[in-house]
Amino acid sequence: MNNFEFSRASDVADAVRQMAADPGAKFVAGGTNLIDLIKEGVARPSRLIDITRLPLGRLDETGDGGLRIGALVPNSDLAYHPQIEKRYPLLHSAILAGASPQLRNMATTGGNLLQRTRCFYFYDTTTPCNKREPGSGCSAIDGLNRMHAILGTSEHCIATHPSDMCVALAALDARVLATGRDGERSIAFADFHRLPGDTPQFDTNLKKDEIITAIELPPKGFATNYSYLKIRDRLSYAFALVAVAAALEIENGAIKEARLALGGVAHKPWRDRQAESQLHGAPAIRESFVRAADNVLRDARSFGHNDFKIELARRAIVRTLTQAANGTPQSQGDKRIR
Ligand SMILES: Cc1cc2nc3c(=O)[nH]c(=O)nc-3n(C[C@H](O)[C@H](O)[C@H](O)COP(=O)(O)OP(=O)(O)OC[C@H]3O[C@@H](n4cnc5c(N)ncnc54)[C@H](O)[C@@H]3O)c2cc1C
Ligand code: SF4
Repeated sequence: MNNFEFSRASDVADAVRQMAADPGAKFVAGGTNLIDLIKEGVARPSRLIDITRLPLGRLDETGDGGLRIGALVPNSDLAYHPQIEKRYPLLHSAILAGASPQLRNMATTGGNLLQRTRCFYFYDTTTPCNKREPGSGCSAIDGLNRMHAILGTSEHCIATHPSDMCVALAALDARVLATGRDGERSIAFADFHRLPGDTPQFDTNLKKDEIITAIELPPKGFATNYSYLKIRDRLSYAFALVAVAAALEIENGAIKEARLALGGVAHKPWRDRQAESQLHGAPAIRESFVRAADNVLRDARSFGHNDFKIELARRAIVRTLTQAANGTPQSQGDKRIR
C-alpha cells in the first residue's frame, strides 16, 4: 500500500499552486485510469489533487464559431451534446466507440487525453518497461506485441495511445488549453501527444504544473462526409487494433479537403498531412483511397505478432474513406461494417 495525501482544488490557480508545490502529485478527475494505475502499483502519487469541483464542466460557443469543451465535461455528456451530434458527428461517433456507457459517464475530456497506454507490460510491474521505468528495457519488442504500434515506433517503446476520442480530435484540428505557473497556453492537438523516441516515459508535451482546462474545436466539423471505424477483438468494450477517423469535403465528385487520423497504430493519434494533401483535388473514388492508404503506411514496421496490422490498417483506411465519401458513416450501434 502506497500512502498518499488527498486534497481538493478550490479553483484553477489553486490546482496549479498545489501541483507546483508537490512534484509527486497527480490530478484526479473521473479516476477511471489513474485509480487502476495506482491499484496496480504503476502510479505512486504522493498526493491526489481532486479537480472535480472546478468550474470546467461547460460547453460554450467560441467567438470564431467553434466550441470550447471544458476539461471536466464527461465523455457521455460530450458525445450526446446536441451541438456535437449535429456539428461534429465524427467526435460523437469516436467517443461512443470507446469503453462502456458506465465508463463514459465517469471519464472526463481532460482525463481522456492523458489516459496511459494499455501495453500489458506497462501494467505488469514485474517486467522491464522503459515507459514505467526509464532505462529498464522494452518487453514488448520481442514479446507479445499484437496490440502494438506499426508507425512512429522507436527502439525504446512500441506502445500505442489508446484513446478513441483523441483520434477524432486530431482529425478535427482541435486545440488543448492548459494553465500552469507561466499562465495559459493553447496547444495544437498534433503537438500535444509525443512519439516515444528515447523518452517514452513522456506521453505528452503538457508541463508537470499544467492543468488542462478545455479543448477548442474550430468551426469546421465535416458533418456531411465523415466516418469513424474502429476494428477490435470484441465488438464493444475493447481497445482499437486499428481505428480510422476520416472527414472529407467533396465538391463535384472531387475532394476539396481531407482529414485522416489513425488510432491503435502509434504512440499518438496518427495524422498524415502528406496523405491528406495527396487526396486534395483527387476524385472521391476507391483508387484515390488506396493510394492514400499506401502513402500513410509507407514507413510502417511491425514486430511479429502485430504484422497483420499493416494490411488491416490499409483496408480500414480505404473502407473508412469510402464510408465518408458515400455519406454512410460507420454506425456505433449496429457495428456491422458496410
Ligand atoms: C475497462 C476500460 C476500458 C476502456 N476502453 C476505452 C476505449 O475503448 N477507448 C477509449 O478511448 N478509452 C477507453 N478507456 C479509457 C477511458 O476513456 C479513460 O480511462 C478516461 O477517459 C480517463 O478519464 P478520467 O477523467 O477518468 O481520467 P483520470 O483517471 O482521472 O486521469 C487520467 C490522467 O489524466 C490526468 N488528468 C485528468 N484530468 C486532468 C486535467 N484536467 N488536467 C491535467 N491532468 C488531468 C490525471 O492526473 C491522470 O494522470 C477505458 C477504460 C477502462 C477502465
Ligand atoms: S512498448 Fe512501451 S509501454 Fe510497452 S513494454 Fe515497451 S516500453 Fe513499456
